Amino acid sequence: MSPGDFSSAVLDWFDRHGRKDLPWQENMTPYRVWVSEIMLQQTQVATVIPYYQRFMQALPTVEALAEASADEVLHLWTGLGYYSRARNLHKTAKLVVDQHDGEFPRSAAELAELPGIGESTAGAIASLSMGQRAPILDGNVKRVLARFKAVSGWPGERSVQLRLWELAELYTPQARVADYTQAMMDLGATLCTRSKPSCLLCPLQAACQARLQGTPAAYPQARPRKIMPVRACLMPLVVDGQGAVWLERRPDSGLWGGLWCPPQLDADADLDEWLAGNSLAARDVQPLDPLRHTFSHFHLDIHPLLVRVEPGDAVAETGQVWYNLRQPTRLGLAAPVKVLLERAQRHIQPVSDSEVTHVPHGDVSQV
Ligand code: SF4
Repeated sequence: MSPGDFSSAVLDWFDRHGRKDLPWQENMTPYRVWVSEIMLQQTQVATVIPYYQRFMQALPTVEALAEASADEVLHLWTGLGYYSRARNLHKTAKLVVDQHDGEFPRSAAELAELPGIGESTAGAIASLSMGQRAPILDGNVKRVLARFKAVSGWPGERSVQLRLWELAELYTPQARVADYTQAMMDLGATLCTRSKPSCLLCPLQAACQARLQGTPAAYPQARPRKIMPVRACLMPLVVDGQGAVWLERRPDSGLWGGLWCPPQLDADADLDEWLAGNSLAARDVQPLDPLRHTFSHFHLDIHPLLVRVEPGDAVAETGQVWYNLRQPTRLGLAAPVKVLLERAQRHIQPVSDSEVTHVPHGDVSQV
């Protein structure tokens, strides 16, 4: 199949079956495409849609994003995971506003120099929102091309990646680039799926080498398995007399950077010592079920402790807050922290509304 026949087949299929009503397909500005592409990294379309709509409603322009607080951005991202994406998004928005007068650079190469924008995302922004001929190679496109040409090896390896980029470049047409880009993403997402590709509906079936071999699911090869180390920590959910939980803002760099979490202590840390160091005294300590959270390179076994302390024991300082579970402030929370706070809430004795009309000790204005 020639490159021209390949792109024609994909575009014909797109005209009949492609997705044309995704929220980021309306008014395709570089900003809107960029935000969608970053959200879609490692996350399914159906999960992204409500997050994207909320994000666009709150921060409709790159200027609005640049002016937003880090807490606001992380709050809108809460639940999507991989928070470095949100931090880079924020950083890049400020850079686009400060150094490019709010206009995104016009070439994929320049776009790829911005924080958090890889080569494929740059290609998607340039082709979808500017109609420029720029190939993309996201997970869906890698899968389609690896199968079509039966490219063996794990796409994380440099040689495999280079081969796939060559193919992406070869098949990207001169005309209708935006439609072609969307078509390849759709083909990978809807037909050439990871475990059960619908080859009989595919416009590439006649020439697809993986299909002809009868082994589409064997491509692309999975990342070589490695045994992930397990780490453990204590996470005291310190609850005051009004049912508010003590949270701390994590440093900007590192795991859960910039997000609000209960304190994370070594598994063998002395809880009493930590409490005393923060002018707190436990009235009652109750272990909750442990929770495993898996990062890209290790598992973290979190051992939560519900620690009830006396009201008024400690005043939150900068970077700390008493988080009112019944009237939550808009803060960025890591996904497992959300789960832990929900669990904590179930254990905390409900108090009457009259008792919680005031926000205890601190609010975010102290941060
Ligand atoms: S024929 Fe099957 S394996 Fe090949 S690209 Fe189409 S859906 Fe994927």
